[in-house]
Amino acid sequence: MTGIDDLPIRDELRGKSPYGAPQLDVPVRLNTNENPYPLPEPLVARIAERVAEAARHLNRYPDRDAVELRTELAKYLTRTTGHEVTMRHVWAANGSNEVLQQLLQTFGGPGRSAMGFEPSYSMHALISRGTGTGWISGPRRADFTIDVDAAEAAIAEHRPEVVFICSPNNPTGTAVEEETVLRLYEAAQAARPSLVVVDEAYGEFSHRPSLLPLIEGRPHLVVSRTMSKAFGAAGLRLGYLAAHPAVADAVQLVRLPYHLSAVTQATALAALEYTDTLLGYVEQLKAERDRIVTELRAMGCEVTDSDANFVQFGRFDDSHAAWQAILDQGVLVRDNGVPGRLRVTAGTPEENDAFLDAVRAIRKESN
Ligand code: PMP
Repeated sequence: MTGIDDLPIRDELRGKSPYGAPQLDVPVRLNTNENPYPLPEPLVARIAERVAEAARHLNRYPDRDAVELRTELAKYLTRTTGHEVTMRHVWAANGSNEVLQQLLQTFGGPGRSAMGFEPSYSMHALISRGTGTGWISGPRRADFTIDVDAAEAAIAEHRPEVVFICSPNNPTGTAVEEETVLRLYEAAQAARPSLVVVDEAYGEFSHRPSLLPLIEGRPHLVVSRTMSKAFGAAGLRLGYLAAHPAVADAVQLVRLPYHLSAVTQATALAALEYTDTLLGYVEQLKAERDRIVTELRAMGCEVTDSDANFVQFGRFDDSHAAWQAILDQGVLVRDNGVPGRLRVTAGTPEENDAFLDAVRAIRKESN
């Protein structure tokens, strides 16, 4: 039987496994940071309308530069961050993972390296590997915040071409202070200069304002965003970045022609028409996230401050056994491999109650 490793694949892919969270069929799934609320029916109808219109032109390639969509995304960013950006500052792709891949294809690649501060979003390392970019794991403190002095030293030592700052950070949940980003940006410019990518996939859920205004006067700073979380549209696959217009121009050197289908563009435009309704769900999720933090702490759990739609909690002597015990009660959470910790996504109030009951039960058992 021929297996992957019998094929003439690239050496750095040998023995590796693909990214994947278990997709188990259980009553309460709180493991992939999805938004629990389906899109509202009027939006579903509007998507059908806009997609039908797009379907009338599917004999033609879509707008390669996605001008209308980038214009609407720019308006959304301007309105919600108070910092004015235009279509020329924005670039969009199939999920922010593709945005990150295009950035690494443009600014990383063979002979170059990227750095992130771990634990963080594991795809930063995986997409680096996939694009032939070396990966350097930078330090974090025991409380999961970035140790800025140590990070500056690591940047000066390794001089990576790309630096990732995930804010709010996945899987730990806390947003990064503006001062930290500014210091790391300066360190990265002194070392190379390199591209600093702020991954704000969970930006809308934060207690802090977006870091997007920092792109002003910093042509090597990129903020990436997604419609997968706040817009409740993970199935749509639409991510985007905001940066100096030269960065948006540069990624077009590597994007595939017509990478964003007409159906994707039409769907995303429909969802943007419903921004206010969808951001209303975000407010509910933020309140639920804060409730989860409070209730877990009241049970005596150690909980990392969260600015995201998920919460990291512990400590468990055996986090895998705790994960299994919670699963046995019908609730799927995520074991990200952070020692002693698990991560739960904020769901509907009923789902969160089921989760909190499950944790209460396993804590009672272990006491
Ligand atoms: N960045 C972070 C920090 C994430 O957690 C995720 C999704 N899990 C992504 C980017 C990618 O999201 P998408 O490709 O759906 O936009």
